[in-house]
Amino acid sequence: MTDAANRVLIIGAGPVGLCLALKLAQDGVPSTVVEQLTDANFLDQVPRAGTNHPATLEMYDEIGLYRKLEPRGIIAPLFHYWDRAKNERIAEFDHAALKDDTRFPFALQCERIKIVEEALAMAKTNPLIDVLMGTNFVGFSQGSDGVIAFVETADGQKDRIAARYIVSAEGARSIVRKGCDIEFEGFTYSDRTLNIEVAYDFKQHGYTDRNYISDPDEWSNLFHWKGPPERWRVHFPTKPDEDEAELTRPDALQARLQGLLPTGKPFNIVGCNLYTVHQRVARKFRSGRAILAGDSAHVNSPIGGMGLNSGVHDAFNLADKLARIWRGEDADRLLDLYESQRRHIAVNSTQADTIRNKKLLAEKDPAVRQANHDSLKRQAEDPKLAREFLLRTSLINSVREAARIP
Ligand SMILES: Cc1cc2nc3c(=O)[nH]c(=O)nc-3n(C[C@H](O)[C@H](O)[C@H](O)COP(=O)(O)OP(=O)(O)OC[C@H]3O[C@@H](n4cnc5c(N)ncnc54)[C@H](O)[C@@H]3O)c2cc1C
Repeated sequence: MTDAANRVLIIGAGPVGLCLALKLAQDGVPSTVVEQLTDANFLDQVPRAGTNHPATLEMYDEIGLYRKLEPRGIIAPLFHYWDRAKNERIAEFDHAALKDDTRFPFALQCERIKIVEEALAMAKTNPLIDVLMGTNFVGFSQGSDGVIAFVETADGQKDRIAARYIVSAEGARSIVRKGCDIEFEGFTYSDRTLNIEVAYDFKQHGYTDRNYISDPDEWSNLFHWKGPPERWRVHFPTKPDEDEAELTRPDALQARLQGLLPTGKPFNIVGCNLYTVHQRVARKFRSGRAILAGDSAHVNSPIGGMGLNSGVHDAFNLADKLARIWRGEDADRLLDLYESQRRHIAVNSTQADTIRNKKLLAEKDPAVRQANHDSLKRQAEDPKLAREFLLRTSLINSVREAARIP
C-alpha cells in the first residue's frame, strides 16, 4: 500500500462521517471524506435531527465542536411528558439530577444542519483530513490489504480512491451496505410522521423546550429551535393511506395544530414535511475492510432523539478502534469489538427504547395509559429514580454499557 492510501476513506459528510474524521485526526489518523453535495448546495439540506444528549455533548467537546454549537442552539435542562386529552403535564424531568454524572446536565437543541456546517468547516482546515465535495461514491472493491472506491465528480469525471478501510457514513441508503449484501433487518411503520414547523411561543402555555405529548388518537412531539426563524417543531402521526397533498394543505395543517392547542387564531406555519419511519439494524456492521456507522447501520423513529446521537457514538467508538489499529493492535479483533459493542446498543437500547417511546405516547388502553403516566410521575418525583431514568434517556448508560462489552 502506498503512503497516500494509508488512510481511512469515509463516505458522507453527515454528522457521523465528520465526527469520525475529526476524532481520527485528533488521534493522528488521516482520512478522506467524500460528499456528494457541493459547497454550493451543502447548506440547502433540511435541518433534521436536533436534540443532542449529554453523552453526545461530551464527545463534541472532546473534538472542539461543542463550543461552536452552543451559541447556535438552546440549552434545554428540562423535558416534559403531557397528557393531551386532560391538557395536563404528567411529568417534568430535570437533567440537573445528572450533575455528578456529566459536565453537560442538559440537552442541546441544535439541528443537524448547524452541526454539519460547523464540523465541515473544522474538517476542511485540518491537515489530516481531505474533504472531497461534489463527489458521488458509486461502488468499491476490497482486497487483503486495502479498498478501492469508485467515485464520480460533479462534472462527470470518474475516479478511483485507494484506502486502508472504507467507512459507510452515507446514511440509510448505504451503497456499501448493499454492496456487501448485508441485510437491513427490521420493519417500517405503516403510518408516516407529519412534521410542522411553527413560529409561536408555546412556553406561554406551560410547555418546556422538549415535550412528549401522549394521546390515544394523535400523539405529538413538540420541540423548540433557535432562530432565525425562532420556531417549534410539532410531530403528528398520520393514517397509512392518507394522501400527502391533502395532509399538507394549509387548512389541514392549521386544523391539526388547533386540535393540539385551540388558540382560535391561525398559527404562523414556516414549513412542513412528511416522512416514513423505519426501525432497522444491519445484520453486520462490518464486512472485511468495509465498516458501517450511523444511519447506514441503524435507523429508528425520532421519538427520543436517538438516531443522530447513537450514530455519533458509533463514530467515536470506531475512531478509538481504528486509532489502535494504526498503532499496531490486532485489526480483526478491534473491528469485531466495534461491531459487537455498537450493534448490541443499536438492538437492545436504541431500537428497544424508540419502539417503547412510541408505544408509550400512542397507548390506547385507558388502564395501561394511566399506569404508564403514574409510573412516569413516580420516576420524575423520586430523585433516585429520576437519575436512573435520565441516565438512560441521556444515553450515558448506553455508552457505559458498550464499553463493558469485552
Ligand atoms: C425529520 C427528522 C428529525 C430527526 N430528529 C432527530 C433527533 O432529534 N435526534 C436524533 O438523534 N436523530 C434525529 N433524526 C435522525 C438523524 O437525522 C440521523 O440519524 C442522522 O442525520 C444520521 O447521520 P449520518 O451521518 O449517519 O447520515 P446522514 O445525516 O444521512 O448523512 C449522510 C451524508 O452522506 C452523503 N451521501 C449519501 N450518499 C452518498 C454517496 N453515494 N456519495 C457521497 N456522499 C453521500 C449525504 O449527502 C449526507 O451528507 C431525525 C431525522 C429526521 C428525518
